[in-house]
Amino acid sequence: MAERVVVAGAGHAAGQLVARLRAEEFAGEIVLVGDEATLPYQRPPLSKAYMAGEIGLERVLLRNQAFYDDNNIDVRLNTRVDAVDCDAKSVTLNDGEKLEYTHLVLATGTRVRELPVAGAGLSGVFYLRSLGDADGIGTALKTTPRVAVVGGGYIGLEVAAIARKAGCEVTVLEAMPRVLARTTTETTSAHMTELHAGHGVWICTGAKVASFAGDGGQVSGVVLDDGELVPAEVVVVGVGVLPNQEIAEAAGITVNDGIVVDARGATNAENVWAIGDCTRHPSALYGTTLRLESVHNAMTQSRVVAANIAGKSIEYNEVPWFWTDQYDAKLQSVGIPDGHDQTVVRGDPAAGAFTVFALKAGRVVAAESVNAMREHMDCRKLAGAQAEVAADVLA
Ligand SMILES: Cc1cc2nc3c(=O)[nH]c(=O)nc-3n(C[C@H](O)[C@H](O)[C@H](O)COP(=O)(O)OP(=O)(O)OC[C@H]3O[C@@H](n4cnc5c(N)ncnc54)[C@H](O)[C@@H]3O)c2cc1C
Repeated sequence: MAERVVVAGAGHAAGQLVARLRAEEFAGEIVLVGDEATLPYQRPPLSKAYMAGEIGLERVLLRNQAFYDDNNIDVRLNTRVDAVDCDAKSVTLNDGEKLEYTHLVLATGTRVRELPVAGAGLSGVFYLRSLGDADGIGTALKTTPRVAVVGGGYIGLEVAAIARKAGCEVTVLEAMPRVLARTTTETTSAHMTELHAGHGVWICTGAKVASFAGDGGQVSGVVLDDGELVPAEVVVVGVGVLPNQEIAEAAGITVNDGIVVDARGATNAENVWAIGDCTRHPSALYGTTLRLESVHNAMTQSRVVAANIAGKSIEYNEVPWFWTDQYDAKLQSVGIPDGHDQTVVRGDPAAGAFTVFALKAGRVVAAESVNAMREHMDCRKLAGAQAEVAADVLA
């Protein structure tokens, strides 16, 4: 058989991988198998400009059909990889077809974590992962007076901002003592809370959801564990994701809250690689393994694996990087602030443009910048090197 790369999943990482394979002059067959109906697309706009109706599908797609035709990439949409046979080096698709591979790339992403509470099946309860989800929420916001967002993470807060801009009354229900608790410092959390409050969003922390109340099959509110009812005609739940690792696990590939890869992006099965949100990779910088959910991670792992399939030998060793847009604030974060023992603020949060440095034993382990894009480029270098910098120099 001629060389053939089969890619399971056709999301952001996969779309980038196939383009990089051709850029690396990989001349063999490429088959891209995705279970969604759409060519590989970017998810970040789904909770930003696309949901707000400011851009259309053409701006969300990574590339158009002509790119795949011109580059001889066989795209199979609405198709699932159901099983992997690492010994036979083949995959089985949901229509029964068996496809042999010389290299297999798992790019299956994640799926939303669902809240297992009473009323979860009511109409008006939404989750956000796909284009269809964004279309459903965007349409519902046009006629909805009250929206409850469950989860004060990045996606929840972005949806809150869009809903507010659409004129809805918005409540964010966060179980932790502060929003963005998993990802940012207290300083940045406090700033984002104030930003939303200033736009009229009510943020309720320490709020644990007990159930969804309904009326005639339609959601009418969120019931908290203390019995309080938060009325809402639309509920958007954003409480995290789970890696799509089942086909790997069933094939005997090592998983551990993510498909385990080495620094080259290789799994423990011969010629099977994994990229993007579904992976758990080693981080030399943090001396541990990480599962990241970010475009930067998906893009960089795709570049590394494409180069390795094409015969190079390169390793992934990146500092995590993420951004979010809410109202007129662009928040960029680099590094992981876990366990920091000092923060230094540069700039003026009250003026809406600043950077927070998180330090551990005098070294910069993370930095969060709001509307300070140029400064953030330097932050990426500092956090990437875990540089030792005196607080008065950072401020
Ligand atoms: C609303 C939203 C906003 C976001 N905003 C940001 C942001 O501002 N900044 C940022 O850095 N990141 C953001 N992200 C995260 C970013 O979009 C992801 O990190 C990125 O999409 C990961 O790409 P991926 O290819 O690994 O996974 P995905 O894009 O999820 O693609 C995986 C694809 O594989 C398919 N699939 C799964 N199993 C199979 C199978 N067995 N067979 C065939 N197909 C399969 C899935 O249906 C999916 O289409 C956001 C995500 C969402 C949902």
